[in-house]
Order: sequence, then structure tokens, then C-alpha cells
Amino acid sequence: MSDSKRTIGFIGLGIMGKPMAKNLLAAGYPLVVHDVAAGPVAELEKAGARVANSAREVAAQSDAVITMLPDSPDVEAVALGPDGVLAGLRAGATYVDMSTISPVAWQRIAGEAGKKGIKTLDAPVSGGQVGAEQATLSIMVGGDEATFQDFLPIFQVMGRRIVLVGGTGAGQITKACNQIVVALTLEAVAEALVLGAKAGVDPAKIREVLLGGFAQSRILELHGQRMIDRNFAPGFKVKLHRKDLGIALSAGKAYGVPLPLTAQVHEMLNALVVAGHGEDDHSALATFIEGLAGRSIR
Ligand code: NAD
Repeated sequence: MSDSKRTIGFIGLGIMGKPMAKNLLAAGYPLVVHDVAAGPVAELEKAGARVANSAREVAAQSDAVITMLPDSPDVEAVALGPDGVLAGLRAGATYVDMSTISPVAWQRIAGEAGKKGIKTLDAPVSGGQVGAEQATLSIMVGGDEATFQDFLPIFQVMGRRIVLVGGTGAGQITKACNQIVVALTLEAVAEALVLGAKAGVDPAKIREVLLGGFAQSRILELHGQRMIDRNFAPGFKVKLHRKDLGIALSAGKAYGVPLPLTAQVHEMLNALVVAGHGEDDHSALATFIEGLAGRSIR
């Protein structure tokens, strides 16, 4: 069977999943979709996808299933539940989770899949909504080489840099590393721009000149601009980044690696969630620093 004829099931059509699924459709893959929210399902149906009413129904019609869900309990329920992915997939099929979840939770799911002869990959992504829309995601994959090579043409429809980083769970460990770098850089950008603003220097000029020097980063470029514009529409939600730093801290505990700054930024994100900003973009971290300084960036 030529790869363009492989039927893919896609579950979780949110900020990331919807554009990823649309890219698969545009590349000619027959797609079966499911989400608990009606809006994105209707949109995908209009674009040519088949709709199924449960994860199990999706899996029963698919050669491979992708999930793109918020958190570990969501993926556990959708994968392992009586109406879940593993109940519907045939032996020899492939189940790929692209959400960001706990590596321990994933190892358990992959173990259950293995008992049924279902191949698995953990394949979390980086690159955000823009990366999902433009199919330029970085995809960090855990699993075996043969399953990775088999699935690579499908990953290539959604991403640009695709690396098999190790065995089962290694993708999720790598994503935790990614989220540490993003969170701590975001926090540094927020501190820098609040300091500049309170000292009377235009934050837009600070951003502009720093982008030409060693402090250059995509986070300064995109999220520095968001902070200046007060554009906190998600994007990547505060509550999801808090979840990811929780995963990183658990991994740090499990492997004996203290993560002092990760712990601090985790608590800053926690404070924002408690204050009712969990649905904001994570660039709203700037508002926490602004609160400490008594001065906003703009
Ligand atoms: P989102 O909240 O926008 O989307 C999640 C989708 O899953 C929603 O449409 C929701 O209705 C659906 N869903 C939840 N429970 C379900 C269930 N039981 N069955 C079917 N559908 C269900 O989240 P998102 O921003 O798209 O993120 C998805 C994952 O990708 C998360 O793990 C996140 O950490 C990760 N991620 C997000 C970004 C980003 O920039 N948004 C970037 C990289 C990775």
C-alpha cells in the first residue's frame, strides 16, 4: 500500500491538533477525526475528514492513530479506556502520541500497546501554533528505529526537524528539556523588559537591538513582541506550561537532578493560574514580573 493511502486517525483538534490534521488532509492522507468539542470536528469534516464518535471508532477505521491532547490523564483515558485507542486498533497498527505528557505515563501506555502487538512512538513537538500551521514543527521522537522510519513520511507532513532521540519515553524527556529552556528564557525576557520600562527605556527599542546580539532568541522575538503588544491570546496556555514544568520537576526528582530555576518559574505560572490567567498565553508571565515591579512594560 502506498503511504499516501494509509488512513490516519487524529484525536484532539485544539490549537495544535487542528492545523496538524489539516496538513495531513492536504497531503492526501485519508483522515478520521474525533474531539469532544464540536466546532473543530465540523471544520475538519468540511475539509474532507471522516468523523467518528469515540477514540475506539477512530482506531477501528485507521492504520495509525495520532493523539494531540492536553495532559497525561487525557491521553491515559483516550488510549486505555474501554472506548479508547488500544481497544480499537488492530495488531501491527501504530499509535503515536504527540501531546506533551509524563514519560512515566507514556511508558505505561506503550507497555499496554505492546501487549496487543501495537507499535508506538512518543513524539511531542515544539514550534507552537505557527509551527503547526506552517508544518515546521520540531518533532522529538522516542521509540524503535523501524517504527520511526515507517512513520517518518507522516511526520514530514507536519514538521521540519524530526529526530529519533532514543527509546520509549525519550521524546517526552526531550520535550521536558525544551520546556525548561523556553520557560526560563521567557522569564528572562519578561524581567529584562520590565526593568527597561521602569528605567525609562523603550522596551520596543530594547527588543530591537537585543535581537541583533547574543541575547537573540525566537522567544525574545515573538514573545517579547507579545509582551510589548499586551497580546496574551493563546498560543500556548499558561496552564499547559505549568503542567510541562511539573513534568520536568518530576523527572528531575526521578533522576536526581535539582532544577532550582524551573521550580521558581513553575510557581510563577502557578500563581498566574490561581489568579485566573491559566487560559492566557504563557507570555503573560510578564504580568507576574510587572506585579512585582509595580510597573507594566507598556
Ligand atoms: P488545546 O487545549 O487547544 O487542545 C486540546 C484538544 O483536545 C481540545 O480540542 C479538546 O477538546 C480535546 N480533548 C480534550 N480531551 C479530549 C478527549 N477525552 N477526547 C477527545 N478530545 C479531547 O491544547 P493544544 O494547545 O492544542 O495542546 C495540545 C498538546 O500539545 C498539549 O499537551 C500541549 O502541551 C502540547 N503543545 C502545545 C503547544 C502550543 O503552542 N499550543 C506547543 C507544543 C506542544
